[in-house]
Amino acid sequence: MTSSDQSPVQFVPYQRAPVLRAIMRSAGRLGLAISPETTWITLGSRIYHPDDVRPSDEPEIVAHELVHVGQWRRWGPLFGIAYLLLPVPIGLAWCRWWSEREAYRVQLAVHPTLEEVDRLVMNLWTAYGWPWPRTWMRRWFRRELAAIQERELLESQPNKRAKSERTPPS
Ligand SMILES: [Zn+2]
Repeated sequence: MTSSDQSPVQFVPYQRAPVLRAIMRSAGRLGLAISPETTWITLGSRIYHPDDVRPSDEPEIVAHELVHVGQWRRWGPLFGIAYLLLPVPIGLAWCRWWSEREAYRVQLAVHPTLEEVDRLVMNLWTAYGWPWPRTWMRRWFRRELAAIQERELLESQPNKRAKSERTPPS
């Protein structure tokens, strides 16, 4: 265990991270849809967010970034390297795809719809350096959506049964 394992999560606006802001601006110029005005980034236990956003107003995004905090705590700096580069930086960046799908799965569970699947896939495609073939990403999220919907159905059934048992016959 390193000290970062125990450190509390910090929310940092980009105005306090000018170097990171400059790096993101450069990435934006390369055609990636990332900018310090719209993008959240987690490095270790620090979650960087757009200056004009209050983290408490964006619980879903915070939940997404907390998944990344957990990944950093589990893998350390190796996670950052794997996220950017392994096994290849673009097209078949499996580590990035895996890391993001774990985080976006949390958001899909909040909005389990096909529209959300399409939105997440488009976001991954345009803002994350084309990490994985689009059709493969869509297939994974659709399977995940079906699993979430099936779980919801199973969870709702005992409640329905209990309610109908409580309802006296009319
Ligand atoms: Zn993410």
